[in-house]
Amino acid sequence: MNAFQGKLQPAVVVHHVTISGGRDYPVVIDSLKTLPTWLGRLGLRQGRCLIVTDEHVARLHLAPLQTLLEATGWLPHVLVLPPGESTKALPYLERIYDEALRWGIDRRTPVLAFGGGVIGDLAGFAAATLLRGLPLVQLPTTLIAQVDSAIGGKTGINHALGKNLIGAFHQPALVLADPSLLQTLPEREWTSGLAEVVKHALIGDPALFELLETRWQDVLQRTPALLPELIARAAAVKIRVVAQDEREVGLRAILNFGHTFAHAIERVAGYGHFTHGEAVALGMLAALWLSHQRHPDLPFDRIRTLLQRLPVSASPAPLNFEALREAMQVDKKTLAGRLRFVLLRRLGEAYLTDKVTEAELQAAWRFACESRRTVVSF
Ligand code: NAD
Repeated sequence: MNAFQGKLQPAVVVHHVTISGGRDYPVVIDSLKTLPTWLGRLGLRQGRCLIVTDEHVARLHLAPLQTLLEATGWLPHVLVLPPGESTKALPYLERIYDEALRWGIDRRTPVLAFGGGVIGDLAGFAAATLLRGLPLVQLPTTLIAQVDSAIGGKTGINHALGKNLIGAFHQPALVLADPSLLQTLPEREWTSGLAEVVKHALIGDPALFELLETRWQDVLQRTPALLPELIARAAAVKIRVVAQDEREVGLRAILNFGHTFAHAIERVAGYGHFTHGEAVALGMLAALWLSHQRHPDLPFDRIRTLLQRLPVSASPAPLNFEALREAMQVDKKTLAGRLRFVLLRRLGEAYLTDKVTEAELQAAWRFACESRRTVVSF
């Protein structure tokens, strides 16, 4: 295990990511106010920096960040893009290129990705490719981004033929996640991110699972005192995985727990019907059923109960199984025509298999639907 964790003060956690080849960066769970100190510590010299953000984040959180940077000797240039998945596309990448090159950057100019996974992936890819690579600072503002997408160096954009088809690995110089920014997230974005937190608990951290079980109401209500630990523990799972498998040649695939069904659910229901997190919550129920068939000692009822608590806004029952099955077959995670599933051996330990029968798939889907009779209106 390459990641270590040191508590500086009760609310501050620093993880250290060590990627093979000696590349190394901190993932800090702390106030954005510490940004200038961290930039200094990392040897990034004051001067120009490019902030890429979206309209929602700009409206809610940009002014203090800009003021802070200006007060500490930085010259930030801000590019505000429309919010949403459709911004993760070539025209907006070009806008970043145009803006950055016209404004004047050099190879030391940091790109600050201030937003959710969309901004992180897009601005990250711009940083990977401008002048053959600029320093990237991830300032994630959604739960998904803080525990997942800002860490690990996957950057990229979507193509008309599919999601994330164009991209590069570009590790950040720093990830600084300020939990207080999450208080302004819309409810559905929060609960969608919680599905990924539950996923990280199931594949890599039994103590996080217990925290979620025992403090679920606080988790749902985003109790501020709980957030640093929640984020730090969930981020640590991602860090451990990417530190061992930067380029997804093996272990990194376990991050796809619940995703074989989830991608098919999103596709068949129509993108946007279920959030990604809701689809993952349903997919994890199916994966739990498959896991339990092979590993009867799994704490099946406890896991099922936690998965049932994740708010989902619509019933999955109307989705046609045959359509899901077909969608799974064309997913890019299929290898040589065989479906691959991430299953749990025990709480906190996952593995990849392609040995799942058609009858099991149907039964797993029935189980997921039966487990989700209740829906939540947002
Ligand atoms: P997002 O960036 O679209 O953010 C969701 C919404 O929340 C947006 O409307 C945004 O404007 C708003 N928002 C962001 N921060 C806010 C805040 N603090 N307060 C209020 N509103 C705020 O989406 P996301 O869920 O963060 O990320 C999804 C993207 O991440 C997808 O494109 C996915 O492919 C990518 N992803 C990448 C990786 C990776 O390893 N690179 C991993 C997982 C997901």
